[in-house]
Amino acid sequence: MDFTGAAAIFVTLLVLFFGLCVGSFLNVVIYRLPREGLSVAQPRRSFCPACLNLITWQDNIPVISWLRLKGRCRHCRQPISLRYPLIEILAAFLSLFIFQAEGLTFRYFFYFYFSMCLTAIAFIDLELMIIPNVLIWPTEILGLLIAAVTPHPPLAGLHLWHFLADHGFSERFISVAGALAAYAVGYLALWLVAFLYKAIKGHRGLGEGDPPLLGLICIYLGLPSILPVLLMSSVLALLTVGCLVFTGRFERQNLGVKAIPFGPFLALAALIFLFAGQDFLSWYFSLFPQSNPILVY
Ligand SMILES: [Zn+2]
Repeated sequence: MDFTGAAAIFVTLLVLFFGLCVGSFLNVVIYRLPREGLSVAQPRRSFCPACLNLITWQDNIPVISWLRLKGRCRHCRQPISLRYPLIEILAAFLSLFIFQAEGLTFRYFFYFYFSMCLTAIAFIDLELMIIPNVLIWPTEILGLLIAAVTPHPPLAGLHLWHFLADHGFSERFISVAGALAAYAVGYLALWLVAFLYKAIKGHRGLGEGDPPLLGLICIYLGLPSILPVLLMSSVLALLTVGCLVFTGRFERQNLGVKAIPFGPFLALAALIFLFAGQDFLSWYFSLFPQSNPILVY
């Protein structure tokens, strides 16, 4: 669907507004999902974590309410984290970028949901060093279902797709088998890293949630995303540890435990690949004009 003139401006504003509202809901998910005794549905209204007062709708407007209240609760004046408006703005821009890439199509909703799930996982892991299964499993199942219902080549992997289709395999079969294989390879790759690290060092170096997270990323972005995502996330994590050590803040991170969560870096690398992956792979394969991409895949 193409929009021009006033319609284009209206749809762009609508997409940004939709992103802001989803971002606001995402804040609820990030706070409540990993905490005992809270669910996303109950209590129905948002509340201040410091004084437990319910928040009225006027104080719950994305970004604007935070600015109007100058980042403090109306009742107890405790600071409200800058994370809240930042996540709302991030969601709005992700919504806009995915809309610009995909238009107002099924793939827009598919990839916007995926990007919101990654954002939630990143912020929960950053704060509490856990990746809730309740976020991972339904998103994995949804990715496999969508692969079955609407057979689609992943963002990357088109060459292999055409190769198999030319050899008599149905699109649905290639789509589901590709998603399952991507999940298995992604999961096993990080599981093996975790296993070897523990065998050599004697203690855990990766969280339990990291292998299924990479599996999930591979379902949505396709198997060829695995190396760029692993490479980017490792470089980003190393740079971050380097900065923390350099500024003397590493030991104070995460209650004195000398560790940082890997999930946020995997999520960030997956988002970068979502937007730039196809260009990156095209550039990479252009370096080997003589080789058959199927062999490289
Ligand atoms: Zn309060």
